[in-house]
Amino acid sequence: MQDEIIQAEKMKVVSEIAASVAHEVRNPLTSVRGFIQLLSDPALGDRKRQEFSAITLEELDRAEAIISDYLSLAKPQIEKLEPIVLEEALAKASQILSSYANLQNVEIVTDLKSSATVYGSKSKFRQAMINIGKNAIEAMPGGGKLTLTSAVDDHARTVTITIADTGIGMSEAQVNRLGAPYYSTKDKGTGLGTMVIFSVIRGMNGQIDVRSKEGAGTAYFITLPLTQRGETRK
Ligand code: ADP
Ligand code: MG
Repeated sequence: MQDEIIQAEKMKVVSEIAASVAHEVRNPLTSVRGFIQLLSDPALGDRKRQEFSAITLEELDRAEAIISDYLSLAKPQIEKLEPIVLEEALAKASQILSSYANLQNVEIVTDLKSSATVYGSKSKFRQAMINIGKNAIEAMPGGGKLTLTSAVDDHARTVTITIADTGIGMSEAQVNRLGAPYYSTKDKGTGLGTMVIFSVIRGMNGQIDVRSKEGAGTAYFITLPLTQRGETRK
């Protein structure tokens, strides 16, 4: 049952992100079209021809990258437990969220210098990060800032990820309802996103702490145990 719910939320996130992906893919395609038109001019010099061909290829690669990121989200994946390099996983999640953020005038700021390795399913962890980021972006209808940072506690052998927004915030009662299925304050919300987040982080033996202030913003603090070996990279 829980798997079905997770799958349902995943499809919803996917369909919403699809709209922004379509928008992002259209830009490089439009520019490719323009350059191909320029390339068809027989009077075009060799240097310009080379330059325009290179730009055309770069733009096509960009469209390709956007589509493959989107597909990696949509594709059902067999759960594989493995070491997750946090820096890479968070950079990837932020990359996937960037088109959605652009559409909403949200700036994503990352500071992932101190890196760590945690243990879990890469795809589930990424999904949890995307669900948090998506809620943060949706909490900033007039634009704002989404900050993604991580800090290692060598003594406690943990790493804490902070995902903070400058959005509408929540009351204490709202914060307490996070993680409960079907709790949503949105017109078209599923109220399943935070449930997925909590179940994934719990599955990784992690802890979630949410601090929020109405009218100011929300911060999620996610603390995860480091893997036994080769855990920190500075
Ligand atoms: P949905 O996004 O479909 O409403 P979620 O489970 O993802 O469902 O979130 C549940 C509710 O928690 C949201 O409707 C919203 O009221 C609240 N919420 C979650 N994250 C934030 C946030 N960063 N800022 C403000 N409210 C939030
Ligand atoms: Mg949500």
